[in-house]
Amino acid sequence: MRRRILKLIPIFLFACKGIRSTCKLQSDLTEEQKKGIIQTAQMLDYNNTQLITYTSFKKPKEGELMPFVIQNGDEDYQIILTRYQGKIYAFGSLCPYDLETDLSEGICFGDKLYCPKHGCQFDITNGMVEGPPSIDNLPKFGLKENEDSIEVYAPLIVPKKIIPQYHFRDYNDQRKVIIYGGGAAAFACLTTLREFGYTGELSYISNDNYMPYDKTKMSKRIKATKPEDFFFRKDNWYSAIAIDAHLGRKISYVNNKYSNTYVELDDSNKIAYDTILIATGTDPVHPPIKGIENQEVFYFSSLDSHQQLKEKLKTINDLSIIGINTMSLEVAQTIRQEYPNIKINIIDPNDESQFQVQYGPELTNLVLDLHVEKGINIYENIKIKKFEKDSIVFKGKKKLKSDAVILFPSTVSPKTEFAEVSDHQFEFDNAGRVKVDYFQRTDIKRIFAAGSCAHTYYYTNGTGHIGDQWQACYNQGMTAAYNMLALNVPWHQIPFTYTEQFGKVLQQASSWPQFDEVHIEGDLKKWDFIIYYGMNDFVVGAVGTPSKQNRVAIVNEGIRCKNIPFLSDLKNGKYSTKDIEAAVRKIKKSGCYKSTLYKFRYDVVPEYNLWTFRDNMSTFYFPYDNAEISAAPKMKGDE
Ligand SMILES: Cc1cc2nc3c(=O)[nH]c(=O)nc-3n(C[C@H](O)[C@H](O)[C@H](O)COP(=O)(O)OP(=O)(O)OC[C@H]3O[C@@H](n4cnc5c(N)ncnc54)[C@H](O)[C@@H]3O)c2cc1C
Repeated sequence: MRRRILKLIPIFLFACKGIRSTCKLQSDLTEEQKKGIIQTAQMLDYNNTQLITYTSFKKPKEGELMPFVIQNGDEDYQIILTRYQGKIYAFGSLCPYDLETDLSEGICFGDKLYCPKHGCQFDITNGMVEGPPSIDNLPKFGLKENEDSIEVYAPLIVPKKIIPQYHFRDYNDQRKVIIYGGGAAAFACLTTLREFGYTGELSYISNDNYMPYDKTKMSKRIKATKPEDFFFRKDNWYSAIAIDAHLGRKISYVNNKYSNTYVELDDSNKIAYDTILIATGTDPVHPPIKGIENQEVFYFSSLDSHQQLKEKLKTINDLSIIGINTMSLEVAQTIRQEYPNIKINIIDPNDESQFQVQYGPELTNLVLDLHVEKGINIYENIKIKKFEKDSIVFKGKKKLKSDAVILFPSTVSPKTEFAEVSDHQFEFDNAGRVKVDYFQRTDIKRIFAAGSCAHTYYYTNGTGHIGDQWQACYNQGMTAAYNMLALNVPWHQIPFTYTEQFGKVLQQASSWPQFDEVHIEGDLKKWDFIIYYGMNDFVVGAVGTPSKQNRVAIVNEGIRCKNIPFLSDLKNGKYSTKDIEAAVRKIKKSGCYKSTLYKFRYDVVPEYNLWTFRDNMSTFYFPYDNAEISAAPKMKGDE
């Protein structure tokens, strides 16, 4: 190793003397440091190691994502150089979500970088993650721009991702927050609270047996998995930031008398609160099927059921999957790839499957044909008469062998038992979701709701969000946390989701309860397309394959900026995705959302750059009952 470094000396200028004198060799690094997972927000805080200066004689243009290769120990390591508002920035090029996707193939809108695969969003000026599914930041590098070159300062071992900095508990801080539920929204809320300086009591109550995990990964991997593979963070991380966790528990009583607010758990534990987030998600609704008790049935909605299915798959030959939706198709393709000997039948008893209702026949046929090509049997619009011990009987007497069933019902029911154990009169929508405003506030003071148990409004057009998308739920959890801290941030993200079916990635911008028309750009057969979905001529979202242009991210940004042409104008060729990109870039440049190319349909809403709120952190307070918090937590660097 030493020889290799010496060889680099003629090419790279070493950083200042002070840094060199604290140099460490790779053999001196801890195991964590070698793996490149280092808990520090600033790369240059990464002390005790040698900084190497790399020189680039090429400079990025404004908005360009220019890959630049440096060394990471013995390996080449790609970073990105970019320019924003004239200033150059350097940061890691691997998406922290999978540590594989190359972010230099993504797209930048102003200071926001979209991952080309998962749609995670990062602030390029500081590497911080703004939009999931990544929960970690990008490493950021120091640099100096010279007249004809850029010097980039990187440590000998480069961290692949940066775990954000969190605030530890301050026992003088008397505030008390309860997070009820243990999924995407709950995790996002607790992590955002601690990241944004909340140092009060933080209790976490979930009826699940595990601390929060990433459900979206469960359908993508089954065979060689353990529960830990899906955890967002390890247990000691929660202890470090003082999360008071109550697993396998439910709230059985809520005392909301103002002077003495507390909840009682089903183990009789009492926990006081000032503020609660309800994030209890949904439950699948199972239509009655005769004889279902004859088969082993899996619902795939929790990590326990995922692990039980993993055991069952070792022993069966014929599997029935009931229901056609994105999740069931992902599960089918995973099982096909991981257990090639199991015969898989996907059966949908509805006239139109959930997938077809959501995406229309064009995409449905494309995806189902792919599954059939891979040896999966699809039975659409076929009514089930009953289940027997080793088979399914259809109406019309046809029988299929079946050793186990995975059920994906097309309807879900929001879990809002919280309302039943309290005397709060929440407002619900028709589906039983708790109604919240743009700030995730219910109509009951100090009670927030987020995720799939909540009925949230899109800030773009005021329509209710009724989709059950992970990224939306996560962002709503973050939004609840911002507003518990009185930062007044509306839910302003448009969910970007993706699925992978036999190596073919489909990305989705936004969600829509219904559509009446589609417009297809590109070629479905070549898996190179974008489908726009429209309702009353308004574009409500899009699904497409990844492309050099990052067209789905463009549409996502277009919807967020309310800068999307009418569907008819896309259809008649007046505008295309390229024009949406130009329009979004134009408004980003001008710094606010102004009507440029297209007619707006909605009011103009200012853009919220979340990270600028950091400057105001020392003044935040709970807005309720004018109860100012005496000990405003200090931000790092306040003193
Ligand atoms: C296998 C799988 C794959 C998926 N893949 C995708 C995907 O690729 N993309 C996508 O967008 N979405 C996907 N989803 C959907 C996504 O996971 C959900 O939309 C999201 O998790 C909802 O988040 P949430 O916080 O509202 O609720 P959940 O994540 O469902 O969490 C609710 C939590 O509350 C707890 N809880 C419920 N009732 C109580 C109670 N009474 N007391 C205490 N705790 C309670 C539950 O145990 C659970 O921990 C997938 C879902 C599954 C199951």
